[in-house]
Amino acid sequence: MSNSPEIGSRTRTRAIMEKYGIRTKKSFGQNFLTDLNVLKNIVEAADITANDNVIEIGPGIGALTEQLAQAAGEVLALEIDQDLIPVLKEVLSPYDNVKVINQDVLQANLPELIKKEFKDPSRPIKVVANLPYYITSPILMNLLASPVEWATICVMMQKEVAQRLTAKPGTKQYGALTLAIEYQMQAKIAFDVSRKVFVPSPNVDSAIVVLTPRTNPLPVQPFDKQKLFGFIRGCFAHRRKSLWNNLQSVIGKDPAVKEKMTAVLAQLDISPQIRPEKLTLEQFIELANALHRQNLL
Ligand code: SAM
Repeated sequence: MSNSPEIGSRTRTRAIMEKYGIRTKKSFGQNFLTDLNVLKNIVEAADITANDNVIEIGPGIGALTEQLAQAAGEVLALEIDQDLIPVLKEVLSPYDNVKVINQDVLQANLPELIKKEFKDPSRPIKVVANLPYYITSPILMNLLASPVEWATICVMMQKEVAQRLTAKPGTKQYGALTLAIEYQMQAKIAFDVSRKVFVPSPNVDSAIVVLTPRTNPLPVQPFDKQKLFGFIRGCFAHRRKSLWNNLQSVIGKDPAVKEKMTAVLAQLDISPQIRPEKLTLEQFIELANALHRQNLL
């Protein structure tokens, strides 16, 4: 380690930005974290040990990367902004367990990168990131769709999105995103982060969400995962309307279809007048499966 203050300190961040003439890019969602306590708490919430391989999405100027390098076995950081690559190479040069590559995470073949870039790909793989807010959901959906078995996904996001990820049925934050996460993971908010600790300061507060694989398997499996989530999104298209109205938009209004839908709902003991946000994931799966059996999905 060099004698300079750590990258995440305000003074060092300012010095790095000045030295390399860095102007943050809004188009890449660049808000750099400048609070060492918060950075260290993120590493702790992610439970990073020397036996872990970490993938960091969007290292920026390396504030979180440096903390990860001190705790993890190896760190692979994917940064879309090529202007930051030479900066990262230089500021992270004291750490020989970090690799930085110029890569859009949404275009990345993660299983291949893991095989190619980590010396020991068999170690637990954890994702840690201060996510670019404009693509939080697509990044999460990509991570979950990937065949990689993530040991932990510990990510900072806009507080309002964090609340959607961890919402309970019947609340206004509960929706298709909550259910997509719940299908595979357990989500909890580790702590909130004030907008004031970023450069530049965004106009929303943030929260750290920790996702870990489900420990309890789902009691029912969907007939088709992709179709299930297409169906769920359709059911939430008009949140203020009843499940029945949403089902009519998704499936159809034909009298024969309506008759079958009525029978399916009665059989599952689900009121047609219920709002979609009252249904649990298990109920959505049962409903989709039953509609599929009637050739309606
Ligand atoms: N990790 C740094 C920190 O905490 O200070 C920077 C976080 S900043 C909110 C988000 C970072 O993600 C930026 O460095 C941005 O360039 C990068 N980024 C944005 N879109 C990306 C993408 N599609 N793939 C990889 N990195 C991306």
